[in-house]
Amino acid sequence: MDWQRIRKRPEDRLGANLADYDACARTFSWAQARALLDGLPNGGLNIAHEAVDRQVAAGNGVRLALRCIGRDDRVRDFTYEALGAAINKFGNVLARRGVSKGDRVFTLLGRVPELYIAALGTLKNGSVFSPLFSAFGPEPIKARMTIGDAKVLITSEAFYRRKIEPWRKELATLQHIFLTDCSNNPPEGATDLAAAMADCPDSFETIWTAPEDMALLHFTSGTTGRPKGAVHVHEAAVGHHITGRFALDLRPDDVFWCTADPGWVTGVSYGIISPLTNGATLIVDQADFDAERWYRILEREKVSVWYTAPTAIRMLMKAGAGIAGRFDLSHLRLMASVGEPLNPEAVVWGVEALGKPFHDNWWQTETGGIMISNFRSMDVKPGSMGRPLPGVGAGIVERCEDGTVREIVAPMTSGELALRPGWPSMMRAYLHEDQRYRKCFADGWYLTGDLAMRDDEGYYWFVGRADDVIKSAGHLIGPFEVESALMEHPAVAEAAVIGMPDPTAGEFVKAFVALKGGFEPSDALRKELLGHARQRLGPAVAPKDIAFRQNLPKTRSGKIMRRLLKARELGLPEGDLSTLESEER
Ligand code: ATP
Ligand code: MG
Repeated sequence: MDWQRIRKRPEDRLGANLADYDACARTFSWAQARALLDGLPNGGLNIAHEAVDRQVAAGNGVRLALRCIGRDDRVRDFTYEALGAAINKFGNVLARRGVSKGDRVFTLLGRVPELYIAALGTLKNGSVFSPLFSAFGPEPIKARMTIGDAKVLITSEAFYRRKIEPWRKELATLQHIFLTDCSNNPPEGATDLAAAMADCPDSFETIWTAPEDMALLHFTSGTTGRPKGAVHVHEAAVGHHITGRFALDLRPDDVFWCTADPGWVTGVSYGIISPLTNGATLIVDQADFDAERWYRILEREKVSVWYTAPTAIRMLMKAGAGIAGRFDLSHLRLMASVGEPLNPEAVVWGVEALGKPFHDNWWQTETGGIMISNFRSMDVKPGSMGRPLPGVGAGIVERCEDGTVREIVAPMTSGELALRPGWPSMMRAYLHEDQRYRKCFADGWYLTGDLAMRDDEGYYWFVGRADDVIKSAGHLIGPFEVESALMEHPAVAEAAVIGMPDPTAGEFVKAFVALKGGFEPSDALRKELLGHARQRLGPAVAPKDIAFRQNLPKTRSGKIMRRLLKARELGLPEGDLSTLESEER
């Protein structure tokens, strides 16, 4: 098999929703994509209407919309009709209390049904949904709710007592707190959500929202610094829908599992909205990662489309292909990955261990949806993020000193990945940070802050975040290439590289490596890895030093925090740590 290029079979080429990329890219218009949705009278648009009411009106109410699997394997199922009824009750709960259009509704919940009901009920009420990751401590929660002018919070009683109560009185905008598991002795001022919903009718007229009305507030992962609050509008549904159709190949009979938590943008755009607008069944697992459990879910639920992340894939690789072999994964049609660069090693492992390549795709909180993707009908080049979504203009650019931007057309030349603004799910603001927002645009481009290259077939290759790129003896070194080379060594489970100051070269490459089970750090292994990298990359790019670590510091959404490795190495301030995952895990 040719690992440079994984060729697609005829059924993938012809059977995909996006069967002919080039033809579609030539003729695509956002107006066509918009026409796939209902809209509301007088040019309105509402995400919740498109996700649920449209399916019910089309006669799909009896189909399973949502299956929530509890930690104890207890299952709670919702058909589109039942989900619609619950959403309506929630909408009434808000409306009865005077919560209205534009008001901010936050959730601090695990992946329980109430989270999904609150998200969609909030949108149906014209209010703005902002999810918080449930493992956040009191400080990051307070900071985000303050920036977001939170009016309503849905949480559990345990979370409330631990994470909200200590500072509750400091947030004057917060008027309503609903608890999902209210005890007999609830905290002062909190309402039992179940009782409030039981009190309300299950019909609710969608509040009219314009396409440009604010719908979602998502905070970025904080990988490169202080998180930003990205504002998205109802029009984003057009992007969520079409990307689900093209990049995830979703259709109504699909069982779709997105492993991202709705505390992050992926878990909302693709963990709630896109599968529902496409009429699929959404699988939600409340429990944390466990290799065997995950394979069991894929098998038992007959998952056909699976959307996950590089960190999870690397953990599955660490657990070994043997476990995967014990399960029947024959229902899987498409596997996709997002959030971090996906090492070629992981794509190839997918084929060897699971029978399919992972389809990497690229996007950001700011872009609201998938922008660059390996599509089902296209050959996969392991290590590449794929090609731009039809309708999305992408380019590799260079910022010039006079503030203009120059496009780099030469293939495989590194520059900043930039996009032509105008797609529906583009952020409309960083909340309360106008200047930071405006700095993202220049000369008709949205500048992503990521470096990439484009090859002569139009596939994009991730180089690294602009902040993480290393300049050594005149070379620009992308961390991804070095990390991927290290990952090829059988002992390496994870790798991260940073630039360290060097008096002659400017910077030299230092690598941090976590080993797979069965391997122990030693000088001999360090030398072997240095030699392996040197052979793969050449002396100018290979690391000069390797340090072993039990774990690498990551954000709670699973992204390696290279800036933190660097700050610690150089004894510099560690910066914003609000999204740092506890490092013992
Ligand atoms: P912050 O902006 O707060 O530093 P963040 O950029 O990690 O955090 P997100 O919006 O969640 O926050 O992540 C988007 C970023 O993740 C992208 O800009 C890119 O750096 C990285 N990323 C996402 N998908 C891919 C991918 N397929 N390949 C490489 N990098 C990816
Ligand atoms: Mg970012």
